[in-house]
Amino acid sequence: MTPGTHSALPTDAADALRAVGLQVTAQRIAVHRAVSAVPHALADEVAVRVREAIGAVSRQAVYDSLKVMVERGLVRRIQPAGSAARYECRVGDNHHHLVCRSCDAVIDISCAAGHAPCLAPDHDHGYLIDEAEVVYWGVCPACQHGTA
Ligand SMILES: [Zn+2]
Ligand SMILES: [Zn+2]
Ligand SMILES: [Zn+2]
Repeated sequence: MTPGTHSALPTDAADALRAVGLQVTAQRIAVHRAVSAVPHALADEVAVRVREAIGAVSRQAVYDSLKVMVERGLVRRIQPAGSAARYECRVGDNHHHLVCRSCDAVIDISCAAGHAPCLAPDHDHGYLIDEAEVVYWGVCPACQHGTA
């Protein structure tokens, strides 16, 4: 594709797709924009937004787009215990998540160490450790005050 051919496409999402070697399609653009707009969105929420943006798209097609973007490192998939998978565009900073036990709200928590693994075990048992999965659990302000 020559530059400018699809000038209507948002350059941010298109550039992001190209940067990881993915073909730029209207559907992938819409998926990327949906995930950007709603961090930690569920796949079904992404699908709703994608349909609002570009019309009928199957749920499976949205799942497939998300999957390939996760594989290329363009989108991060998280799955807190007891929750469905959630997707976000904030990748590569090893940030963690704070999850409300009551309403499943998720917010980002910067990694104090800034890189993986952020916790050093006192004994590695010979393993080459590359990640410590950290999830903070609590009750969000809205749930504490009964306004959720
Ligand atoms: Zn809550
Ligand atoms: Zn996050
Ligand atoms: Zn950390």
